[in-house]
Amino acid sequence: MHSNLKIEENVSLSGLTTFRIGGEARYFLRAQTEKQVISGLEFAHVNELEVFILGGGSNVLISDSGFSGLVLQVDLKGILFREGDGEAINVTVGAGEDWDEFVGICVEKKLAGIECLSGIPGLVGGTPIQNVGAYGQEVSETLVSVKVFDRHQNKTKTLSKAECGFGYRKSIFNTTEKNRYIVLEVDYSLKKNGAPKIVYSDLKSKFEGRVPSLRETREVVCTIRASKGMLVRQGGLDAQSAGSFFKNPIVRKSKLAELETILLGEGVKGIPNYFVEPDLVKIPAAWLIEQAGFYKGFKKGNAGLSTKHTLAITNRGNATAKEIIDLKADIQNEIMDRFGIDLIPEPNFIGFDNF
Ligand SMILES: Cc1cc2nc3c(=O)[nH]c(=O)nc-3n(C[C@H](O)[C@H](O)[C@H](O)COP(=O)(O)OP(=O)(O)OC[C@H]3O[C@@H](n4cnc5c(N)ncnc54)[C@H](O)[C@@H]3O)c2cc1C
Repeated sequence: MHSNLKIEENVSLSGLTTFRIGGEARYFLRAQTEKQVISGLEFAHVNELEVFILGGGSNVLISDSGFSGLVLQVDLKGILFREGDGEAINVTVGAGEDWDEFVGICVEKKLAGIECLSGIPGLVGGTPIQNVGAYGQEVSETLVSVKVFDRHQNKTKTLSKAECGFGYRKSIFNTTEKNRYIVLEVDYSLKKNGAPKIVYSDLKSKFEGRVPSLRETREVVCTIRASKGMLVRQGGLDAQSAGSFFKNPIVRKSKLAELETILLGEGVKGIPNYFVEPDLVKIPAAWLIEQAGFYKGFKKGNAGLSTKHTLAITNRGNATAKEIIDLKADIQNEIMDRFGIDLIPEPNFIGFDNF
């Protein structure tokens, strides 16, 4: 029945992740057509296997024992540009296209809207899952709709942006409808000859009030990323990570005041924060981690913090998933003890019993 489906067995997953960590997939399929995606799901159903959808592996930590079901990597290609209303250009992109290559193509075509998301690793299909964002821009700002395969209804359909329920690092895909949809294609609306979005302080200070080109913006974003070890293509141990390991916590104003009282008493000059709603403030997780005594380059076994950024837990060479989890737990416990804040991890944990 699945004779022309290339389902492989016992495939090592570590090389398919930016962490370079993880055991084997019992079954593995790289699906290059929608039909193959559906046949892969049928194979899993018939054989009563769990399914994990893999993109570029840049936001996952895979357990040392791997995944006992089917890992289905979505490798659907294609980029189609169409004229929209006025200055709008609509683009339909296959979920398996490399995200950063796609951003580069759009920037060269002078299409604005995703330039600040340059240098983010992974595939296009991964970007709606946590509503990727960086340097003042989020993918939900230009995303129009997402074509998905619905595993509940067993059919292909298109979800509008409103139906995706986007928020800070979240959507229905990683919350209420986790594991239900397989992203096949994403539609964006970009602006022809539009100006780059320069709202993030690092970018503002770099360009000092002048409006740069999209290409310059992309270059500067990539340079800043490289200086923080957040550019996978620069290589090296600092890039063996899943990017930011924790979300920036959002707390009530009263909690911030409480923390200020404790920390100012200890000689700390102030807590960096910015308001996201009148009563809610975001505190940089990296700052909290440093206050709790973890520093750039901190090591525990083969796991450690990036030497350039405390928010990235990295594989310092042959780290196991267990070592990464141990360091994660140490950081979370320390932040809870000192500040009463629960740091929530950003990556997805695959093949663990307790996540
Ligand atoms: C160095 C570095 C820097 C990073 N910087 C940022 C940043 O600035 N901002 C940011 O938001 N993120 C950042 N990330 C995290 C990551 O790159 C993004 O979240 C990216 O979009 C993940 O895409 P992926 O294809 O690698 O997904 P994967 O890691 O393969 O998968 C992540 C999750 O998405 C699901 N998924 C993937 N593809 C599909 C699909 N087609 N259909 C359904 N589900 C799918 C998976 O099941 C999994 O739950 C960074 C990561 C690294 C390593």
